[in-house]
This record gives sequence, C-alpha cells and structure tokens, in this order.
Amino acid sequence: LFGLKDQVAIVTGASSGIGRACAIALGRAGAVVVVNHLSRSADAASEVVREIESAGGRATAFAADVSREEDVQAMFQEAVRKYGTVHILVNNAGIQSGARFQEMTIEQWRKVMAVNLDGQFLCAREAVREFLRRGPQPEISAATGKIICMSSVHQRIPWAFEVNYASSKGGIALMMQSLAQEVAPDRIRVNAIAPGAIRTPINREAWETPQAESELLKLIPYGRIGEPPDVANAVLFLASDLSDYVTGATLYVDGGMALY
Ligand code: NAD
Repeated sequence: LFGLKDQVAIVTGASSGIGRACAIALGRAGAVVVVNHLSRSADAASEVVREIESAGGRATAFAADVSREEDVQAMFQEAVRKYGTVHILVNNAGIQSGARFQEMTIEQWRKVMAVNLDGQFLCAREAVREFLRRGPQPEISAATGKIICMSSVHQRIPWAFEVNYASSKGGIALMMQSLAQEVAPDRIRVNAIAPGAIRTPINREAWETPQAESELLKLIPYGRIGEPPDVANAVLFLASDLSDYVTGATLYVDGGMALY
C-alpha cells in the first residue's frame, strides 16, 4: 500500500515511544530502517531491530546523539556505506525538561534546544545533502527525498512550565516550512506531525494518576489518549507517495486537542 519497499529510512530516537513505533511501521512497510538511539539505549534499539527482522524486514541500530554534528554525520555516512543512500528521515528524537520559568537554568534551556532544534537541523541538513548528491530515483519514489519532523501541538498551543520545549517546537514549525519552500524545486518534501497526548515514556510520570489522566481526557475531543502507532500511521502516509503533493504541511495527530 505505501510502496516503501527498499527505501532507506533513518528514524531518530527510535529505541522508545513514537520513534520505536515509526521504525517498526516503516520496517513492516518494506523500508530498510536505521534505528537511531543514544548509546545508553543500545539494548532497547536492538529489540526494535529484532522486531523488524522477525517480521521479515531489514534494520540496523546506530548510536548517535543528534545534537552532535560529528555523530549525525557519522550516522549518515554509515547508512550510505551500508545501504547506498537515504530516502526518508524521521526527525523524532526529543526531550522535555520543564521548570518554573524563574528557576529554569540556561543549561536546561540549551539542552532542550540542542536536542529538539539543533538535532532536527543537523539531521535534516545531512539528509538534504544526501538527497541532492544522489538525485532523483523515480523508480523508487516520486520525491527525491522526504523529511518528517516530529513537532507537537505545543508548536502552537502555549505550555506553561515547559517554555523551553514549546519554544523548540515553535522553532521546528518554521524551520520545517522554510526548508520545505527552499527544497521543493529539488522535489524534496518536508512535513511535520504535531502529536497531542501520546502514551510514551516522555510523559509517563505526568499522567501516572487516574485523576491526572481524566483531567487530560477533558482536553481531547476524541475521548482517548493517543498511542504511538497513531503517530506512526501518519508517518507512513507522509513518507509514501500517497502524500506526493503534500509539502510544508503539519498533520495534527491529537484527537482534536488543538481544536480548543
Ligand atoms: P520518548 O522519550 O519515548 O522518545 C524520545 C527518544 O529520543 C528516546 O528514545 C530518547 O532516548 C531519544 N533521544 C533523546 N535525546 C536524544 C539525542 N540527543 N539523540 C538521539 N536520541 C535522543 O518520547 P516520545 O513521546 O516517543 O517522543 C518522541 C517525539 O515526539 C519527541 O520529539 C517529542 O517531543 C514528540 N512528542 C511527543 C508527544 C507525546 O505526548 N508523547 C507529544 C508531542 C510531541
């Protein structure tokens, strides 16, 4: 259905949560997946690789901190060495480190910016370089390359006590649109997904009580918390030729949360 056979996809932060679900969905759809992870998450990343392989797919794990230029370049070099090129980047790795604003340290601010914004810039830049180096491959995909940026409903909805996180996601929104405009003539598509409340390790503590969960549900018109595959399904669409005329778009996967 999605026509991703033999396309090479790098998914960042793919050892858990949304990234894990995206890697598995892409692998099941026939893509060759580079499962990026932090070195401390090597075991979890190997599990993801095994899961893709047991479904008949191809995958490899690669440890790289997306906020480090040399790590990101090494990851793309390894993907090209091993699989010939890269067709799809899912810019998913992200962190949260909230605080009352007056107590937020510059380290906390910079760490979130470094992973969420610098990380997406560095990976997108290497992806664009590789797409342009390789050029069109119409037999593989209508687009020369596809980048999917994991944003958040908080690219648009303010988030008290998470000012650094919301700022990073707001930055991703305009980075994505500006880049989409710049590389559209090269037939490179760049889109974003804005998840709402998805059940993953990033927010395990925030919703740990039934009361916190029922408060959260009041904010979601569709009446349920999202699960990682909800987001992965949207990634499949944006990675495939089904979305060939879609670029610079943000797909909200939030059960209607951003409608309020
Ligand atoms: P998660 O914590 O399970 O996933 C984040 C992953 O990124 C982890 O595997 C982590 O190890 C990895 N990571 C962190 N720093 C990294 C770095 N420097 N280099 C490489 N990898 C790194 O949480 P998640 O919810 O799956 O988050 C995935 C993305 O979705 C994030 O960008 C997050 O902001 C976004 N998002 C999540 C939600 C939600 O409700 N869960 C909502 C909106 C947006």
